[in-house]
Amino acid sequence: MFKLAINGVEKTVKSHPGDILTWPIVNKAMDEAILEVLRAGNMSGTDITRRFEREYADWHGMTYGLGCNNGTAALHCAMYGIGIGQGDEIICPSITYWASCMPVLSLGGKIVFADIDPETLCIDPDDMERRITPRTKAVVVVHYCGRPADMDRIMPIARKHNLKVIEDVSHAHGAIYKGKMVGTFGDVAGFSLMSSKSFAIGEGGIMLTNDKETYDRAVILGHYERHTEITTEYLKAGAGLPWGGYKYRMHQMSSAVGLEQLKKYPAEIAEIDKAMNYFWDLLEGVSGVRPHRPAQGSDISMGGWYHPLAHYRPEELGGLSVTRFCEALEAEGVPSRPGCNEALHRHPLFSTIDVYNQGKPINAMETSFGRQEDMSLPVAEGIQSRIFTVPWFKHYSSDVIEEYAAAMRKVVMNYEELLSDDHGNPEGSGGWSLSFKS
Ligand SMILES: *Cc1c(COP(=O)(O)O)cnc(C)c1O
Repeated sequence: MFKLAINGVEKTVKSHPGDILTWPIVNKAMDEAILEVLRAGNMSGTDITRRFEREYADWHGMTYGLGCNNGTAALHCAMYGIGIGQGDEIICPSITYWASCMPVLSLGGKIVFADIDPETLCIDPDDMERRITPRTKAVVVVHYCGRPADMDRIMPIARKHNLKVIEDVSHAHGAIYKGKMVGTFGDVAGFSLMSSKSFAIGEGGIMLTNDKETYDRAVILGHYERHTEITTEYLKAGAGLPWGGYKYRMHQMSSAVGLEQLKKYPAEIAEIDKAMNYFWDLLEGVSGVRPHRPAQGSDISMGGWYHPLAHYRPEELGGLSVTRFCEALEAEGVPSRPGCNEALHRHPLFSTIDVYNQGKPINAMETSFGRQEDMSLPVAEGIQSRIFTVPWFKHYSSDVIEEYAAAMRKVVMNYEELLSDDHGNPEGSGGWSLSFKS
């Protein structure tokens, strides 16, 4: 007698999820804010964006905020802001979205990938330290899928080697690490604010820093309309035209939505936190699956639980592949997908593709570590078979969450039913970006 829906039994999740998985959460005030911008013909101004920047920076206790048209641009500004240029190396975790590091290529910089910590999925501080050479200028820290990186280890290593720290906070807006908000530890932080992220305002991004020179350099790169406000002497002579030729102004429909989002965001992530923690508490002690969250009762919190992940332990379930496990979950009515971001160092872009007609590939053999695809980053390379996506609950509806947890528990309890039809994980089961149907 089969017990699992994938084998023909009725599925566990019977209730309609309602709006529990719907994202982003849009209210009337956001609608009105957008119409106001539209009707005033004020899409390309900076007055609303400046108000948003001020409030977003104040929320973090930071001095300068610079709104950008997306998170990729905010990170490009951050990299130029701290002075990365020709031949400089930055160290970036291999498991992340490409925009954490790739903007550096147009600055003439090189990317050296580092491995991730198998528990946090953020940069492994020891491997990061091994990748430091005299050419290293900065490290990029990504607080991956809502979870803060190990800043207590990372910051002293960076400071000891005189490196700048760029925080990519595109996955963890509002996360707290030991009493302090992420995005406030390093020299500069970049945030994506696009629609699928926790702090969702449309296409948009923001850079935060406490350093005026960093801010001014970011302004000279991509914000020509603010050049008269630059106070850093050596930049003033070149004001008027954007250095590098970029235009990164934020659309004011986005910043208008951002001002409204700031009002409701803390309450939203508190409810998400309650819902997600409830889900995982119900699964305490279940074999094969573990939450990707900080230890309960610690002073580290998830920032909105963007793209929530579960650790998967096939060795506890008779070697069952995560792909087959997720198929069974889907059949029970639980949206889930194996894997996360693919390991970037394996992409041919960094080893064999001649993007800039230089007669040699990007990074070529020129980083201190040679061809990127020859690097050995064992955790990053093995992670796709040990991770899957779980539903992102935006509301604390305990009865619905209980149904989802019961479905997960049922699949674990009956995993043996799945072993005979397990075809394993396909090659490249992650993706170059995280997209997920809910
Ligand atoms: C989404 C994302 C970005 C880029 O942001 P966009 O707004 O999409 O340009 C950068 N880093 C990470 C980790 C991201 O997930």
